[in-house]
Amino acid sequence: MTERADCVVVGAGVVGLAIARALARAGREVIVLEAAEAIGTETSSRNSEVIHAGIYYPTGSLKARFCVAGREALYRFCADHGIAHKRVTKLIVATDEAQMPGLEKIRRQAEANGVTDLQRIGANHARAMEPELVCVAALLSPATGIVDSHGVMLAFHGDAEEHGAMIAFHSRLAAGTVGEDGIRITVDGAEPMELICRTLVNCGGLHAQDIARRLAGLPPHTIPPRYFAKGNYYSLAVGKPPFQRLIYPMPDAAGLGVHITVDLAGRVRFGPDVEWIDELNYDVDPRRADSFYQAIRRYYPGLPDGSLQPAYAGIRPKLQAPSEPAKDFVIHGPREHGVPGLINLYGIESPGLTASLAIADHVADLLR
Ligand SMILES: Cc1cc2nc3c(=O)[nH]c(=O)nc-3n(C[C@H](O)[C@H](O)[C@H](O)COP(=O)(O)OP(=O)(O)OC[C@H]3O[C@@H](n4cnc5c(N)ncnc54)[C@H](O)[C@@H]3O)c2cc1C
Repeated sequence: MTERADCVVVGAGVVGLAIARALARAGREVIVLEAAEAIGTETSSRNSEVIHAGIYYPTGSLKARFCVAGREALYRFCADHGIAHKRVTKLIVATDEAQMPGLEKIRRQAEANGVTDLQRIGANHARAMEPELVCVAALLSPATGIVDSHGVMLAFHGDAEEHGAMIAFHSRLAAGTVGEDGIRITVDGAEPMELICRTLVNCGGLHAQDIARRLAGLPPHTIPPRYFAKGNYYSLAVGKPPFQRLIYPMPDAAGLGVHITVDLAGRVRFGPDVEWIDELNYDVDPRRADSFYQAIRRYYPGLPDGSLQPAYAGIRPKLQAPSEPAKDFVIHGPREHGVPGLINLYGIESPGLTASLAIADHVADLLR
């Protein structure tokens, strides 16, 4: 028998859960379909858990707007819900004079995005803050922090359920057809079912394009190409954590450079780097350590030999090929693809965790 549903959100990562919560709080009847056995088993639990300030993204882009708005919303949400987080701050470092114009460019870009609290500091000041750090100058970002991302997802999930949302695990959207009376979907898994829904929100992360391709009636030319860029992390095998703050080198084309983050327990990790891959796999190749030592020693020359050990990896759902410039988040509604009630989210890479509440508000507005 085919059941009727108001809203179906596909994917229980941080973005799907934030959207489910926003729609449930707006009084919509929400079902979340999640292929895995639990919330946040993919990209949402394989990231740096940084609350980004919104520094680098092109002004006016969705990434810039949602990061700045989402960051403040997330800090408030964490404070209100007792979720562990900390404004640890971050240093973006120039390691030679040639990088100084780049540092100034980042400062101007941040300011244009509304991030007006960056402080330019000299080498001595930076070293007084972080004795192991070697640089010629740095930008200090007071608004950057870290968060328990699983705690955020649990709270989104709990709040969504309190407002009537239901989540079905082991439930994979297998196919769909756009019809006169809504979108008819077939769900595989623990309890196979057919549903006709008024609204379908595709938050499938790395699989968003596959899900979109399974929807008969969605114009295929609206589905952007997808590429995978793995980010590998290493942890420190020995010694005390050398830094208290997040330390970022100058960014490169596909990522923010091999940086140092700290977690809420004070442990440091290194990465992510950028490894373009064709198939999903989360193995960390120990041979990549050489390039990590090289990159990290530019600003942390005291990194001891043999101290790095492979930790974990996450995969960025990129919309650009390796040689192309970075792309923005893509959120398609009826205006872009012509299908009433359908929202597709593509390329929700970093800063998707930071931006999740702002993305959810935007999607709820599109559906209002
Ligand atoms: C290496 C790395 C570091 C990052 N660091 C940060 C950071 O420090 N700060 C920050 O703000 N952001 C960061 N991000 C980005 C952030 O992690 C993501 O933007 C965010 O987690 C995306 O959440 P999501 O809900 O869109 O996707 P996901 O978490 O991938 O969730 C998608 C869900 O959809 C489910 N699904 C897929 N197909 C189907 C189907 N057919 N039916 C049902 N369910 C399905 C999957 O099982 C999965 O649970 C990082 C990302 C990476 C890769």
